[in-house]
Amino acid sequence: MKCPRTRKLLKPIKVAGIDLDISEGCGGIWFDNFELDKLNQSSIAMGEVLIEHLREYHNPLVDVNKRLNCPRDTDVIMMRRFYSSKFQIEIDECPQCGGIWLDAEELEKIRELFPDHEDYQNTQKRFVEEVMSSPETKIHQKGHEELIEKIKRLSNVLYSMLSINNK
Ligand SMILES: [Zn+2]
Repeated sequence: MKCPRTRKLLKPIKVAGIDLDISEGCGGIWFDNFELDKLNQSSIAMGEVLIEHLREYHNPLVDVNKRLNCPRDTDVIMMRRFYSSKFQIEIDECPQCGGIWLDAEELEKIRELFPDHEDYQNTQKRFVEEVMSSPETKIHQKGHEELIEKIKRLSNVLYSMLSINNK
């Protein structure tokens, strides 16, 4: 698969038992839908290493406002699925395969969102509530419950990836 922003080949890596694909062109990450399903919070380690690694590739010249095609279904344009103006986070999701693309910037913002390990459960709850109640959040096709579950899983992945230094 190629990076939807830079067209560079995505590099597969394994974090905590799940396979991710990272872009060495822009520092973005691709999550396959079924990989998100596999994840449970207790299985996670190594996140900080990944974030540090991706930071090296952050490319400020990349236009993050450009709509993206799915790296897997290359003729499908991804949706800005979860958007929160409060948290300033935009996440692209493929309507076909359910995969998720995160830009390097999003990772940084999510890092700021979860500053405290102790407060994780509350922060996650607030994040999910905010995203679900935000008028900008677009709920297409899939049901509400499924979307909430997905946001929770994603926030688990992200939090785990970002939280190693905060223990
Ligand atoms: Zn897709």
